[in-house]
Amino acid sequence: MPDKIALLDLTYAQLRGLLTLWGEPSFRADQVWGWLYRSLVSDFNQMRNVPKELRARLGEAAHLQTLTPLADNVSAEGLTLKVLFALRDGETIESVFMRYERRRTVCVSTQVGCPIGCPFCATGQSGFARNLTAGEIVEQVLYFAREVRDQENGQQGPDSLITNLVFMGMGEALLNYEATWQAIETLNDARGFGLGARRMTLSTVGVVPGIQRLSQEKLQVGLAVSLHAPTDRLRDKLVPLNRRYPLCQLMAACRDYVQNTGRRITFEYALIEGINDSLEQARRLGRLLQDALLKVGCPCHVNLIPLNPIVGSPYQPSSRKMALAFQRELERQGISTTMRVGRGIDIQAGCGQLRGKM
Ligand code: SAH
Ligand code: SF4
Repeated sequence: MPDKIALLDLTYAQLRGLLTLWGEPSFRADQVWGWLYRSLVSDFNQMRNVPKELRARLGEAAHLQTLTPLADNVSAEGLTLKVLFALRDGETIESVFMRYERRRTVCVSTQVGCPIGCPFCATGQSGFARNLTAGEIVEQVLYFAREVRDQENGQQGPDSLITNLVFMGMGEALLNYEATWQAIETLNDARGFGLGARRMTLSTVGVVPGIQRLSQEKLQVGLAVSLHAPTDRLRDKLVPLNRRYPLCQLMAACRDYVQNTGRRITFEYALIEGINDSLEQARRLGRLLQDALLKVGCPCHVNLIPLNPIVGSPYQPSSRKMALAFQRELERQGISTTMRVGRGIDIQAGCGQLRGKM
């Protein structure tokens, strides 16, 4: 018997197509979509204004749940929650929820593992199994939205339960473009979840064709590019994909992206002791960004992240002194920077620490 349809894998148009095929009136798609993404139901029987027969038919043909939470972990300060999920085929992924004063951010995975294999990243070291489907990406967000609603007995709309979404969990989103983009459109859809595109940020390690495609999209999600090195020689080692898309190609794609979208790019730079954190490297990074972007009027921002150490890796974070000197040099060259404060490091929920096991 073929497996049931994963309802969250359907676009709005596909859901409407299915319901039309079943002879349902056209307003039904809006109703079901609203139950899924606005009311966040996890059971067909909660769809109160949907006729009983249709609920039964949906239950026979489709399922609503593809993720099963296996374990969770709350950081010491209580503001970061990491959840390990099992997928239907037994693979596992992790997602992270972070509370800030005015934001509630979900960090989603887009792949099981990651094929790029950056040596300082736990995901990269755990190998690659497969891409996630759009439904599997969306459901990570719905899971945390339901948690917040249930904890707070909230009546708010979903976009105030979860205010921000970052594609910075396991995997490289631009190597799973179709599913990632479908998830973005589903969550953005005003008939349902309604999360503004500007509140979503996608992080890439530099998949040039993906950046080019992104710069043509109508929905303007934010873009972060993980740079980590100012020269090809070093970047070839830290980010193996650099051998395919070297810095000149990457920076050209970034420039086109800013020119097409009018949006500034954030560059992520993990500071690794003795590897990429010298003053000379800061100078070179500044020059690279000046020449490729600032001089042609393209704004950018650098987010410095002292490395989160991972088990079994020799790489260590830069000292505070080196990190601050690095930052000062970039600022001296007129580049805006922030130093990221690590979140959830004690529960291995920080950047690059997710490996799909707890
Ligand atoms: N594959 C994408 C998104 C997932 S990683 C990417 O690489 O951009 C999210 C961010 O965490 C990236 O900027 C990545 O470079 C960074 N990162 C990976 N390992 C890290 C570590 N050990 N310490 C700090 N940041 C890390
Ligand atoms: Fe993959 Fe990003 Fe980790 Fe590199 S840093 S291995 S691209 S998840």
